[in-house]
Amino acid sequence: MFSFLNNVLADLKGISNADIKGPSEKARDGEGVVTTLKDIDLRKLFTLRTQLTEKLKALSVVAMKEASTHRGTADEHNVSTCPNCRNIQKMAPLAARIEGVNDLLWAGVRTELNETEIAEILQNGRSIGLRQGWKIVSIPHGGATTIISLDVPVDVLASLGIKIPKQ
Ligand SMILES: [Zn+2]
Repeated sequence: MFSFLNNVLADLKGISNADIKGPSEKARDGEGVVTTLKDIDLRKLFTLRTQLTEKLKALSVVAMKEASTHRGTADEHNVSTCPNCRNIQKMAPLAARIEGVNDLLWAGVRTELNETEIAEILQNGRSIGLRQGWKIVSIPHGGATTIISLDVPVDVLASLGIKIPKQ
């Protein structure tokens, strides 16, 4: 736990203000802009999540190329034990790290909200999101989207215990 937090803090120190990159997605129909995220450390945490996500995507491309060179039928090939599937096996710890950073991010964003804003998010079971211009939005139930789309088949991800964080 503490090594996870220490790693996150070290990663955040490595991100300069110039490196900070905000969400590119615009607020969608039905989403309500609650306020703007001003905290620099949380903006860095969002940037870190993006960086790690890109790393996972790149790893998934290499991993699938690796697996396709020797993969037989799904029945006879077990990616979690196959000695030739090292890269795909590396995905699980990275995905777990992204999940942890994602949880920290949303916990942090919530602490930036006042009572009225929190009530606005929670009403009708809405969830929270970040959009272009660091807008914090409330998302209608069922409107949340995955932040990562990988080329790896879902059954392979599931066999490795990889959960893809949603926002
Ligand atoms: Zn393999």
